[in-house]
Amino acid sequence: MISEQKNVYNFSSGPSMLPPPVLERARAELTSLNGSGVSVMEMSHRSDTFVEILRKAGDGIREALSIPEHYQVLFLQGGATLQFSMVPMNFLSRDRVADYIVTGAWGKKAVSDAALFGNVREIYSTEASGFRSVPEQGAVRIGDDSAYIHYTSNETIDGVEFKYDLDGGRVRVVCDMSSNILSKPIDIEKYALIYAGAQKNIGPSGVTVVIVRNDMIDRLPEGLPGLLSYRELAKNDSMVNTPNTWGIYLIGLVCDWLREQGGVSKLEVRNREKAAILYNAIDSSDGYYVGHAEAPARSLMNVTFRLSSVELENKFCAEAAAEGFVSLKGHRSVGGIRASIYNAFPVAGVKALVEFMTEFSRRNG
Ligand code: PMP
Repeated sequence: MISEQKNVYNFSSGPSMLPPPVLERARAELTSLNGSGVSVMEMSHRSDTFVEILRKAGDGIREALSIPEHYQVLFLQGGATLQFSMVPMNFLSRDRVADYIVTGAWGKKAVSDAALFGNVREIYSTEASGFRSVPEQGAVRIGDDSAYIHYTSNETIDGVEFKYDLDGGRVRVVCDMSSNILSKPIDIEKYALIYAGAQKNIGPSGVTVVIVRNDMIDRLPEGLPGLLSYRELAKNDSMVNTPNTWGIYLIGLVCDWLREQGGVSKLEVRNREKAAILYNAIDSSDGYYVGHAEAPARSLMNVTFRLSSVELENKFCAEAAAEGFVSLKGHRSVGGIRASIYNAFPVAGVKALVEFMTEFSRRNG
């Protein structure tokens, strides 16, 4: 949308489009931040200016999700993928077991990394039925002996999403929220730890946001390198080493934008509207487009669907791209079409895609 060369609607699943006003502001401040004569990428991460930027980004996330004082907000590196092993490294010992709910490709990866560090129980998996659904609240039996329960609130590849905050009872809940964080209000107190790669709703890639309850980090094992220990990272305000200063700066700008939009509850209304337009088009296509997820689990962020053949899907993507609808191809592991419509994606873009879909099905019926 921002491009000077070409106006496109960018459906990329991540890194995905950022709000155009955020990019404009970053461009305006790129070579000289606040008249300092240097860019944010060229100043010390220990400088007062950057420490203020870090505080602003942390406060922005805190405000957006109403995060209470007894949680820390950290900005880490290594992507959400490093959290797959950092979580068990910090919270799972050889004599304990952790429970995992697997509703898609990312949850499956989290299980295999965690199994390197302790006993992992896959207590619920929808793999056999093709990752099309999520369990209802209360349907999963979590072991009382579990060190934590892990789930993925939105499976980016498969397009299935939990519509509630999982209740872990006495067991600590850890959640990979990479692809739906900030898309709606959540009940933070239900979670012991949340992590999310920034590159969908938070900012650019290269930063992972971790929200962790204080009591989780009070009693961590000794012997972890500082960069892999939540306690050390929290104690050092995410700066055990040089953080991704540019990424954290952009997160602060995205938080400003979120506030201007009226916060996550307003964004949820818009996200629901966008998803409904697209799912309605799929449902009213007489089977020309077939949605992947079962209706109650349909993701508001990643709308996944198929056409009758791979050839037709390729034609769909090619013609869509020629008309400015880019990055609609499904993940290489599953194929099909995926329209990712995160916070920054405009309603107008969804309406325009639906017009294209109607026209495409008419021409290729
Ligand atoms: N979890 C989910 C739900 C994701 O969508 C992704 C990547 N898109 C990851 C984990 C891995 O994230 P990263 O590339 O930041 O390691």
